[in-house]
Amino acid sequence: MKAAVVTDFHAPLELQELPVPEPGPGEVLVRIDYSGLCHTDIHAARGDWPVKPTPPFVPGHEGIGRIERLGAGVTARARGDRVAVAWLGYACGECRYCISGWETLCEQQENSGYSVNGTFAEYAVAPAAFATPVPETISSRDGAPLTCAGVTTYKAIKVARVAPAETVAIFGIGGLGHLALQYARIAGAFVIAVDVEEPKLEMATELGADHVVNARTSDPVAAIQALGGADVAVALAVSPASFDQAFRSLRRGGRLVCVALPPDGTMTLPIFDTVFNGKSVIGSIVGTRNDLADVFALHAAGRTRVIAVDHKLDEVNQSIDDVLSGSVLARIVFQL
Ligand code: NAD
Ligand code: ZN
Ligand code: ZN
Repeated sequence: MKAAVVTDFHAPLELQELPVPEPGPGEVLVRIDYSGLCHTDIHAARGDWPVKPTPPFVPGHEGIGRIERLGAGVTARARGDRVAVAWLGYACGECRYCISGWETLCEQQENSGYSVNGTFAEYAVAPAAFATPVPETISSRDGAPLTCAGVTTYKAIKVARVAPAETVAIFGIGGLGHLALQYARIAGAFVIAVDVEEPKLEMATELGADHVVNARTSDPVAAIQALGGADVAVALAVSPASFDQAFRSLRRGGRLVCVALPPDGTMTLPIFDTVFNGKSVIGSIVGTRNDLADVFALHAAGRTRVIAVDHKLDEVNQSIDDVLSGSVLARIVFQL
């Protein structure tokens, strides 16, 4: 099978011909149809984070495809089922996190495209229980970005407990941000979209943002405070400075949700401001299988729009450069 492989953190990905993996007991073999390119795949390929994957590996965790083979003992999925292969590739199901609805915090978890091979390939294996069913009314092309960008930002809006008529500022209108703003609207919030690229702000307006702010040409903190401040700010830009701006754009009682993972990112919090103004800082990592089912249900009901552009897997290195240059409107998807 064709796959894009990270062989070295300092080298481009290599297109390789690999053997089709064997589904082990409890696993399924998925013929990948579409895979999205998440900014996390770029961090993975470059070894950006403190916990690193081990090359060689296949990145990708926004994979949609049909089950072609079942490993021993699989009864909950059938051949031909269309499923999503997401970042949460496995969780133990028994620890305090798993049994309390926080499987995304499981210490035994595996991550697709990071600790195990992912979806930048014609085939991937996944535990049957973690191959989330995709409603037939959702195209694989739309399903791919929903599988990480969608579930992650749906969860970010949920953990912030966004209420109707609150103001949500979204920092970074890329793959994640274009969906975050839609979930904020579904929750009933007014939305301020912040980015440094004008075409992304135009897209945000088209998707229903109430205000847009270009952080390259103006000060987003001043602009958002002039609107009364944000009840919730969601940090999705790969820029520590933008986290600081997001925090400072909050009004009293505001919640900052940290989602982006800039390399070597640190943040300094003003204690007095945080305490006296009752602000909170929340870290949010992807979402559960149940959150993903919610995301698919919303999309199947016509409540969200996925904006994506098709690239070939052979163009993976150029695609990464395009994301880093800010020239991709929302998401690149590879058809496999
Ligand atoms: P992306 O590149 O598609 O989007 C980032 C956006 O931020 C772009 O639109 C870019 O123009 C904008 N931006 C850059 N600098 C900015 C600035 N200073 N101010 C405002 N906007 C700015 O990336 P993505 O795929 O949406 O991922 C974003 C981040 O989220 C990555 O770090 C990724 O690893 C992380 N991520 C986290 C989770 C999680 O569960 N916490 C899940 C998926 C992705
Ligand atoms: Zn992702
Ligand atoms: Zn667990």
